Amino acid sequence: MVEDGAHVEGKNLGEFDIIARYFAPLATDSSALSLRDDAAVLRPPEGLEIVLACDTVIEGVHFLSEDPPESVGHKALAVNLSDLAAKGARPYVYLLALSLTSKQVAADWLEAFAAGLGALQRRSGISLAGGDTTKTPGPLSITITALGLVPHGHAALRHGAKRGDLLYMTGTIGDAHLGLLLLKQPELAGKWRLSEDDVAFLVGRYREPEPRNAIAIPLRNLASAAIDVSDGLVGDVGKLAAVSHVGAVIEAARVPLSPSARKAVASDPKLLEALLTGGDDYEIVASVPEASASSFEAEIRTKDEIVTQIGHIEARDGTRVLGEGGRTIKLSDRGFAHF
Ligand code: ADP
Ligand code: MG
Repeated sequence: MVEDGAHVEGKNLGEFDIIARYFAPLATDSSALSLRDDAAVLRPPEGLEIVLACDTVIEGVHFLSEDPPESVGHKALAVNLSDLAAKGARPYVYLLALSLTSKQVAADWLEAFAAGLGALQRRSGISLAGGDTTKTPGPLSITITALGLVPHGHAALRHGAKRGDLLYMTGTIGDAHLGLLLLKQPELAGKWRLSEDDVAFLVGRYREPEPRNAIAIPLRNLASAAIDVSDGLVGDVGKLAAVSHVGAVIEAARVPLSPSARKAVASDPKLLEALLTGGDDYEIVASVPEASASSFEAEIRTKDEIVTQIGHIEARDGTRVLGEGGRTIKLSDRGFAHF
């Protein structure tokens, strides 16, 4: 039992109470053995391959201490679901490794955190198969390992883009970057002439990214290559191009911005560069052969997702961003890197 555990119905919350109370209800797949065993035992469906992804989110690095626990739960799972989405995989099960500080060993924090996880889990069709729970002096750290399923040999991969392919992205770019700036410097809202709704939208995009798992099937069937944009559009397109041994052209005017991001850019045009290179978008970029482009667009529309052509693949190395009149925009920063 943890010494400074939360007070619930007159007793302290220990590790096993935490697992049984907050996480066992999320362990809906029989493989999880109700989280009452040492490990999960999984029997993957015949003919399918398992896609594995692992991402950590750390307080102060990937989310802020003041972020609501629901959104911390949402984000920890969303960033992993986004990696599965980039592979065209159907979400299957996940493992949850929690390093909690004394602040989180509290019933209201855990309940809200599990609710955030649970809501996204139900929408995406993934379930909890196990994990680990430890105490840390800080900061709070959450590692999720997510498993997804794809038909044999059909995962979408980062490499495979070919000269002439069209470059697409889901959703809009830069909202999360603006949301983070607004959380750190609330006075920017006035400078950028944003309404309260704009601020709520942009902060929501930072705290609760929406993984694009709905596009898995068109992605794996029609894209020549795909990547999840987590570290900035330009940098991540560059990674896709580099492993495909091709170059990429992004036309800045085609890059989709939300109405709120447009307002911010209208009052400070220099922001555009930051939106193209910032991070935390969790959108999907895909290269698609021209012959498949109209089917790709049509299929994605049937999934109620938005996809926009932002450029194309070319033979010569490197990633270029074209601005007005087709002139190359020089960018000072190409994306986020931890080291
Ligand atoms: P052991 O001590 O044998 O390693 P644990 O006590 O760590 O086992 O875990 C018991 C069970 O609870 C296991 O099934 C494990 O996967 C699960 N579990 C522990 N922590 C979590 C968590 N944060 N989320 C989901 N399952 C968890
Ligand atoms: Mg263990």
